[in-house]
Amino acid sequence: MFGTGRYSGWRVVKEALTGHKGWGPAWRDPEPQAAYDYIIIGGGGHGLATAYYLAKEFRQARIAVLEKGYLGGGNVGRNTTIIRSNYLLDGNEPFYEFSLKLWEGLEQDFNFNAMVSQRGIINLIHTDAQRDAFTRRGNAMILNGADAELLDREQVRAMYPFLNFNNARFPIKGALMQRRGGTVRHDAVAWGYARGADSCGVDLIQNCEVTGIRTEHGRVTGVDTTRGFIGAKKVGVAVAGNSSRVMAHVGMRLPMESHVLQAFVSEGLKPLIDGVMTYGAGHFYVSQSDKGGLVFGGDIDGYNTYAQRGNMPVVEDVAEGGMSLIPMIGRARLLRTWGGIMDMSMDGSPIIDKTDIEGLYFNGGWCYGGFKATPASGWCFAHLLATDRPHETATAYRFDRFRKGLMIDEKGQGAQPNLH
Ligand SMILES: Cc1cc2nc3c(=O)[nH]c(=O)nc-3n(C[C@H](O)[C@H](O)[C@H](O)COP(=O)(O)OP(=O)(O)OC[C@H]3O[C@@H](n4cnc5c(N)ncnc54)[C@H](O)[C@@H]3O)c2cc1C
Repeated sequence: MFGTGRYSGWRVVKEALTGHKGWGPAWRDPEPQAAYDYIIIGGGGHGLATAYYLAKEFRQARIAVLEKGYLGGGNVGRNTTIIRSNYLLDGNEPFYEFSLKLWEGLEQDFNFNAMVSQRGIINLIHTDAQRDAFTRRGNAMILNGADAELLDREQVRAMYPFLNFNNARFPIKGALMQRRGGTVRHDAVAWGYARGADSCGVDLIQNCEVTGIRTEHGRVTGVDTTRGFIGAKKVGVAVAGNSSRVMAHVGMRLPMESHVLQAFVSEGLKPLIDGVMTYGAGHFYVSQSDKGGLVFGGDIDGYNTYAQRGNMPVVEDVAEGGMSLIPMIGRARLLRTWGGIMDMSMDGSPIIDKTDIEGLYFNGGWCYGGFKATPASGWCFAHLLATDRPHETATAYRFDRFRKGLMIDEKGQGAQPNLH
């Protein structure tokens, strides 16, 4: 392994006793080579995970990740850190459950503390119809090997007595719970995959924007970048909110829009919310970080943009959602907000597929739910790149579902295309 060697408790003790002289950089900073077998465009969670699994699980070599800024500067370091596999539809649930299983072994696998915390997630129920829908969802999850429990009102009250039970326009009637859901320290995921990929020989090249994709006779030959042309046999695109810009280099229009989504963090508070909670009568979700800040979010801003910056009306909208569920949240001060660019697909579900150009592959359409998908997305994209066949859990994530009308329209747990 390059640089720092393997991390362990013994290593920390040894370094403490020897003046911490043995820690090196976590990954190299190589110059781009003239050509690679595989180029992954985008050094976010999905691109880094793809490179890691390509090298480690699929034993491929000569791989580079090209990132226009710095590793983890995109959505992977901007999200609200929630992981779960509480989906309904057959096209989605096995994939997200595969991802959750990968999260469960990830830190040992890539030898990095990503603070995977299976603290549980509850989706609050406010109407009888919603209880029916969540019961159905819970059953679908169990049938796909995931865990799900239905909680009644008193069980929710015992967990979170400070919620608005008494005077609410949308009374709380229970919740769907997934105990294996939770949170993961988002930027540590980027760092862990980066370090893991580097140690398998992957070149991670930062400050290297792809400005063109070259093809010859319907085959990809390489990419133009701000650091010159780099040849490649296969190119995988994993650029999230910039998908339409990058695919425009080969004249491809995507069934996708780019939208800004904001995240919010309050000042540090005493321990209050030990799991993740989503509001069933408005778009508001919240957890509490280990430093005490309430980490929450809500709707996308609702207009097309590539700027990683949100606007005031949505701050008010999200705060209203929070206040109507947890009235006392109005006493907390907002410490930080930021925005990320969502690759919103037209049915709210992702695409992991080949393109019409030989050797060019696409991964995107994650909407505001792609963080939890990071391990499975990387694994399935690596599988597709290495074998030219879709992974068994990602067979529905094809471009042609839009032509054939085979939408994977989750509603409720996925993104809702009619709202953007
Ligand atoms: C505020 C917010 C909250 C969210 N909350 C959650 C959540 O709680 N749970 C969840 O599951 N998901 C959540 N998401 C969604 C999740 O973060 C994304 O779906 C996921 O991170 C996208 O994949 P990525 O990590 O690869 O993207 P990114 O990290 O954005 O990676 C794409 C990379 O491509 C690079 N790039 C772009 N163009 C080029 C180019 N031309 N050349 C080279 N590089 C390029 C970018 O610089 C970027 O680093 C949230 C997102 C946001 C913004």
